Amino acid sequence: MLVNAYGAHAGDQPLQPLQITRRAPGAHDVQIDIAFCGICHSDLHQVRAEWQGTQFPCVPGHEIVGRVAAVGVHVHGFRPGDLVGIGCIVDSCKHCADCEDGLENYCDGMIGTYNFPTPDAPGWTLGGYSQQIVVHERYVLRIRHPEEQLAAVAPLLCAGITTYSPLRHWNVGPGKKVGVVGIGGLGHMGIKLAHALGAHVVAFTTSDAKREAALQLGADEVVVSRNAEEMAAHAKSFDLILNTVAAPHNLDAFLVLLKRDGTMTLVGAPATPHDSPNVFNLIMKRRTLAGSMIGGIAETQEMLDFCAEHGIVADIELVRANQINESYERMLKGDVKYRFVIDNATLAG
Ligand code: NAP
Ligand code: ZN
Repeated sequence: MLVNAYGAHAGDQPLQPLQITRRAPGAHDVQIDIAFCGICHSDLHQVRAEWQGTQFPCVPGHEIVGRVAAVGVHVHGFRPGDLVGIGCIVDSCKHCADCEDGLENYCDGMIGTYNFPTPDAPGWTLGGYSQQIVVHERYVLRIRHPEEQLAAVAPLLCAGITTYSPLRHWNVGPGKKVGVVGIGGLGHMGIKLAHALGAHVVAFTTSDAKREAALQLGADEVVVSRNAEEMAAHAKSFDLILNTVAAPHNLDAFLVLLKRDGTMTLVGAPATPHDSPNVFNLIMKRRTLAGSMIGGIAETQEMLDFCAEHGIVADIELVRANQINESYERMLKGDVKYRFVIDNATLAG
C-alpha cells in the first residue's frame, strides 16, 4: 500500500514529500492511521546523518498517535477505531532476557521505528512522518487520554518515556531532589513527571528567558547554568540529575552538584562526545555517571496511564508537514515551547 510521507534523500537535503510502501497487516499486526507525530531532536540527528549509518530515503518520527484502521486475525487486544500510540520501538527478538523483563529497549535485536533493518521495502524502517504505519501488536500502546488531547499526547511516546523511565529507575519521589538539565522536548516532560512523582525539582537552563516558564511546568527552582553563583548554591545536594542536553557540554559543572551516592543520568545523545569528566568528581562522593535509553513497552504503557490519570500532556506547537524543515531550525535555536507536533492530515493530497 502506498502512503504519503515526508522525508529526506540525503543528510544535506531538506525533507520533502515522498511516497512509501506499508505492508498489508499480518496476523499479529495493527494498521494505524496516524493523526499526529511529534518532532524529536533524534529525528534531526538521524535525518541529517549526524549519527552514523543513516539510510536514505529517511522518514523520521517516533512519537506517533492515531486510530486503529485494521487488525490481523490473531490480534485480540485492539479493534478498529481504538486510540493508540507507537513510540521508538516496532520490533525486538521477543525472547531474550531484556524482552522477557519487558525492557525491549535494551534488546540487541530491537528494531527502532525508523532507520532499522526490516524485510519490508525499502529494507529499513520508515517512521511517523507518514499517513499510516503497520506494527506488531506487542509494540502498540493504548491511549486513555481524551481525544481532544491527542496531539499533545504524541510527545509522551518518546520524550515522556525517555524521562519517566530513569525517574522511576532511580526511585524519584517525595523527599528526593532532582535536577533536569535542558528545557526542551525531553526536559519539559522531565520537569512535569518529576513534579508529579512528588520530588523537589530544580530546572537547569542556559536561557534566562525560560525561568518563569520552568516554574509553570512544575519546577520548584530554576538555575541558569551559565551563572556560577546560582550553580554553586546547589553544590553536593542532588539525588539525581537527568541531563537531556542535545550538545556536548561540561559535565563536571553538574557532577559536583550531586550529593554522596548521587547519580547523573545522560539521556541527551549529542553527535560528538563530551569531554571526559574529571574522575575526582566521581571518586570523591562515590557519584555515578549513567545513561538511559527510552523505556520498555510495559513501562511506556504505565507512563501513558500515569499521565492520563494525572492530566499530563506535552506543551506543543502544532505544525503542517511543509513546516518540518523550519521547525528543525527553530528547535536548534531553542525556539519551541516545547515540542513541535505534525498534523499528519496535512500529508494528504
Ligand atoms: P530539544 O527539544 O532540542 O532540547 C534540548 C535542550 O538542551 C534545549 O532546549 C536546550 O535547553 C538545551 N541545549 C541545547 N544545546 C545546548 C548547549 N549547547 N548547551 C547547553 N544546553 C543546550 O531536544 P530533545 O528532543 O529534548 O532531545 C534532547 C536530546 O535527547 C537529543 O540529543 C536527542 O537525540 C536525545 N534523545 C535521547 C533519547 C534516549 O533514549 N536517551 C530519546 C530521545 C531523545 P535550554 O534552552 O533550557 O538550555
Ligand atoms: Zn525521540
